[in-house]
This record gives sequence, structure tokens and C-alpha cells, in this order.
Amino acid sequence: MFQSFLIKYAEIGVKGKNRYLFEDALVRQIVFALRKVDGQFDVHKTSGRIYVDAKSAFDFDEVVNALTKVFGISGICPVVVLEDHGFAQLGEDVKAYMDKVYPDKNMTFKVHARRARKNYPMETPEINMELGAILLEAFPELSVDVHEPDVMLNVEIREKIYVYSQIIPGPGGMPIGTSGKAMLLLSGGIDSPVAGYMISKRGVTLEAVYFHAPPYTSERAKQKVVDLAKYVSVYAGPMKLHVINFTDIQLYIYDKCPHDELTIIMRRYMMRIAETIAEETGCHGLVTGESIGQVASQTMQSLACTNDVCSLPVYRPLIAFDKQDIVDISEKIDTYETSIQPYEDCCTIFVAKHPVTKPNVNVIRLHEKNLEEKIDEMVKEALETREIIEIE
Ligand code: ATP
Ligand code: MG
Repeated sequence: MFQSFLIKYAEIGVKGKNRYLFEDALVRQIVFALRKVDGQFDVHKTSGRIYVDAKSAFDFDEVVNALTKVFGISGICPVVVLEDHGFAQLGEDVKAYMDKVYPDKNMTFKVHARRARKNYPMETPEINMELGAILLEAFPELSVDVHEPDVMLNVEIREKIYVYSQIIPGPGGMPIGTSGKAMLLLSGGIDSPVAGYMISKRGVTLEAVYFHAPPYTSERAKQKVVDLAKYVSVYAGPMKLHVINFTDIQLYIYDKCPHDELTIIMRRYMMRIAETIAEETGCHGLVTGESIGQVASQTMQSLACTNDVCSLPVYRPLIAFDKQDIVDISEKIDTYETSIQPYEDCCTIFVAKHPVTKPNVNVIRLHEKNLEEKIDEMVKEALETREIIEIE
């Protein structure tokens, strides 16, 4: 029954020039999201609003599902589009609309007409009154509440007449492409895909890096990360996944450094390498799935040690989240089932029985000197031999 969708977006903070950039990015992202949906759609900006007009048959649920993944959308209103065949016909059509959309009419409503076409022969208050009266007569269970109606029936008179009343919640956030770019350290766990999702919700484009340690970590473990990147990209858009072969570096650290500091030192090399790629690819920050106290490498002292090697800001959107809150989001974005697949992670293999929980950054720096002979060459090699996978 619907031929169009009115897209609502939060307008706070998007005034002036920013507003038009925001809207254009949102239109682009909607067009992009609808590419995978059967049917033809015209996405356009008209008098400060964004509409998705269907130009062919389409599956309603499929379109709504795609739109609920476009950051920047706060609400999706399915619209019935009517030809203007005079007011009497409009009354009939509005009755039919209410009957179909609200089988149970035990509710209050209000008609809210807008005349975008000024040559329409009736004034707005008159349209509101007349349509209200027609509905009350047709459906005696209905009553009018002009202050807090259960249903706000919008009737917009343009070239055609747009009727809508339902709002399906959108994901909120900012359209991808409005907030720069960040490098996500993506592992096969539960946390980092959620961290990527959260940062991209603020309009940030992502690039990702995964540290792979074959043969200690399997091809299947890598495939798991590729799969997770795909789930994140449903929201975040296409991204490049840089796969770094980290085995030699890990073995070298294992060989030269105290074992209780392995995780921290490894993490520092991950950050250094991620930052190099971030700078190369025009990223403005790094993103991790760390959360205070979750494991030994995520105490305040450990986080300070990992941070110590970065000059770009490190964003940790989950820093104050409990595990269950993170799990809830991972279920919502469909990454959970993939994240819990039991494939070994490079960090778990080399992890010490009793890792330091309160590392001292000066001690760590000192022990990293043991790596001086070969580490720069190894990092260079790891960067040069990286595999880049395009995630669509
Ligand atoms: P996750 O669930 O994201 O794997 P985690 O709870 O297992 O996190 P750690 O293993 O301590 O935590 O990793 C902390 C963060 O470091 C991860 O969230 C991720 O951003 C990054 N990281 C860890 N291992 C890797 C890896 N192999 N490749 C890329 N990033 C990694
Ligand atoms: Mg992990």
C-alpha cells in the first residue's frame, strides 16, 4: 500500500552548511543501502525533507530493514501517495488509510495537514477540520486529541498528496562520511566489532587491521575476522581490511622479553603498526574494543602502556561498558554468533599464565630495548607483506 518513505533525521547540530553536507551524505548512504534491495527507488531532498520514492514494486520489509541500518536516520515513515482527485476523494482515501493501518480504532488522533502547494483550494485548518469530521463519522470509536494524540495523521499536499502516520525507529547517529576516518583494530572477539559499529554510528568511515599469526592461528580464524568485518560494514559501509602477518614479531618478542609482559609488548607493536597504516590511509584515530578491567591487558596501567606508543588519539568506545552490555549490542548487530566461534586468537596462544596487571611503562620500554636488533626490520617487512581485503 505504501509508495514512499519520509526519512526523519535529528537536526540538532546540523545547521547551515553542515546541514546540507549531512543531508547529502544521508541521501548517498540511503542510495547505497538500497542498491542491494530489489526494486527502483528515487531518493531525493525536497523542501528540507528526504524522501525515498518507489519507482517499481518492492518488498516493504526488505526496504525498511535496509533503511534501519543507515546511520543518521532517526525515523522512517511509510507514506501512501495519492493523486489529487478533489477533496471528496481525499476523504475516502484517508478513511481507507486509517481503516487499513489501524484495525483497532480505540484511540485518539489528530489530523495535521500541510500545504506545500499553495494553490490547493482549501486552507490548512479547514482541511484538518473536515478530514477529522469525516473520520469521526466513519469510525465512531475514534476520538480527537489535539494535544497528545495516539496517532498524528499527516496529510501533505504537494503535486501529489502524501499521507503518513507511522514512525519506524531508525538507528540514529550521523551518516557515514560526515566525521572523517578511523582505523579499527579488529580481532575475532566480541568487543572490537561492537567498537567499530559504535564509532561508525557517529559518521566515521572505517578502515580495519587484523593481526594474524599463522600457523598458530588458522585460516579459519582469519575468515572469522573477514566475516565480522562484513557484518560491521552492513552499517559502516565498505572498508579495507589490512591483514598483518604478526608471527615473526610475536616469536621474537617471546624470545627476547619477559613472558609476563608479552601481551603488553605485543599490544604496543599492534598499536604502532596500526598507527603507521592509519597515517598512510588518512585515518584520524585508532579504535579498539578495550574496556577497563576486562582482562589483565586492560587495566588502567596496561592501557596507559599501550597508549604510550601512539600519537594519534585512540578511541575506546566500550571503555566503561560491562561485558553484558557489549554482548547485547553484538547480538543486535549480528556479530555475536560469529565472535563466539572457537578459533584461536594470536594473543591467547602466547599469553602468559600470570601476565603483569600493573605494568610500568618505563620497565616495558626498557625491556623493548631487547628487540632493538631486528624489530624495525620485522615491522617493515610485516607492513610490506600485508594482505588487503576489500570488504563490501
Ligand atoms: P575482542 O573481543 O575485541 O577481541 P578482547 O576482550 O579479546 O577484545 P584483547 O584481546 O585484550 O580483548 O584485545 C583488546 C583489543 O585489541 C581488541 O578489542 C582489539 O581492538 C585489539 N586486538 C586484539 N587482538 C587483535 C588482533 N589479533 N588483531 C587486531 N586487533 C586486535
Ligand atoms: Mg580478543
